[in-house]
Amino acid sequence: MVLQQLGGSISRALQQMSNATIIDEKVLNECLNEITRALLQSDVQFKLVRDMQTNIKKIVNLDDLAAGHNKRRIIQQAVFNELCKILDPGKPSFTPKKGKPSVVMFVGLQGSGKTTTCTKYAFHHQKKGWKPALVCADTFRAGAFDQLKQNATKAKIPFYGSYMESDPVKIAEEGVERFKKENCDLIIVDTSGRHKQEAALFEEMRQVSEATKPDLVIFVMDSSIGQAAFDQAQAFKQSVAVGAVIITKMDGHAKGGGALSAVAATKSPVIFIGTGEHMDEFEVFDVKPFVSRLLGMGDLSGFMDKIQEVVPMDQQPELLQKLSEGNFTLRIMYEQFQNILKMGPIGQVFSMLPGFSSELMPKGQLDSSNPKLMNESRMMRIARGSGRQIRDVMEMMEEYKRLAKIWSKMKGLKIPKKGDMSAL
Ligand code: GDP
Repeated sequence: MVLQQLGGSISRALQQMSNATIIDEKVLNECLNEITRALLQSDVQFKLVRDMQTNIKKIVNLDDLAAGHNKRRIIQQAVFNELCKILDPGKPSFTPKKGKPSVVMFVGLQGSGKTTTCTKYAFHHQKKGWKPALVCADTFRAGAFDQLKQNATKAKIPFYGSYMESDPVKIAEEGVERFKKENCDLIIVDTSGRHKQEAALFEEMRQVSEATKPDLVIFVMDSSIGQAAFDQAQAFKQSVAVGAVIITKMDGHAKGGGALSAVAATKSPVIFIGTGEHMDEFEVFDVKPFVSRLLGMGDLSGFMDKIQEVVPMDQQPELLQKLSEGNFTLRIMYEQFQNILKMGPIGQVFSMLPGFSSELMPKGQLDSSNPKLMNESRMMRIARGSGRQIRDVMEMMEEYKRLAKIWSKMKGLKIPKKGDMSAL
């Protein structure tokens, strides 16, 4: 996942520092320089990184560190707070209310994932009881209306657009008007994107915005944008009143730090992230759990949500009890394997546990295959008895060994009740 490397580098820098016997200014500086380098390599804007370094130095008191307090924790907390500050503009974005018509306009460069994200956003709200509708005011890109129409039809969301009309302002106005009459409470307007910031795009955006009077303008940004992100986001903000950001393609290999800078440029929060091409590959973005996972501090509340999503109700208390006892047997693996698989890529799930940064996990732990657990004749007997290849048995045992090792680290972990963040 995007930013995984950044999280790993920061965790390593903190680890190295806490291994030092004496923490003096030199050791602290080395640690901060390492973190700074990691942030810059991930394309976070230079000024943000410099400010962050200065702030941490102001906050962290070397005397406290010398007095034997938990150094790693103090600095980790300062880094955590500073990263949260970068990602949190301090004011929430407009949230549409059910039953009251809201207009939400999407802007962004072509290819950023804007049209796909409009549908994901509509679909997400539809599942939660809103009555969304989609308006295609992108008359620039051939096929834009067809794409929106196809997505909307798949998600059973009403849509509006035109093959004949070339004036995006007129289409946007008509669409919004129609869906207000039809009592839709979330009217989403998709606007044209171009290859780069250009005057015509901004002028068109301004006009659509004036005509439809959106309650919220969402800026969609591709996570791979890099250092150009800050300027681009700022340019959009100067033309229309951007109130929230959605970062797409967080499932890719991009460095992603540029997208962090977008928040600072627009002074607007990231509200969702796109994690794939499909309609439901879309997640609500919360600053604290995100940064927590990035730094290997875990996101127990997210972990609990995942467990509650995929493990049948009646099995949850027993499973959690066994896990917190560090008790992971072959039987639990057998019973829970399907559920665990449903939780998504194992590395992502474990990044929700404190002490795990999936980047820090040895690569072999995420793959498999290192036999030697059982002797060969025993495995052959099991293979014969179950009608499988011996290779399958070896793989299963390897999987068990890997999971048991990870689970053993959960021993004594206080698992919070749903919604209880105090353990974080
Ligand atoms: P637009 O030109 O900004 O409207 O972009 P589109 O919505 O047409 O998306 C451009 C491409 O990005 C399409 O192939 C989408 O399927 C893809 N895309 C959009 N969001 C995501 C995402 O979160 N992850 C991945 N992997 N692909 C995405």
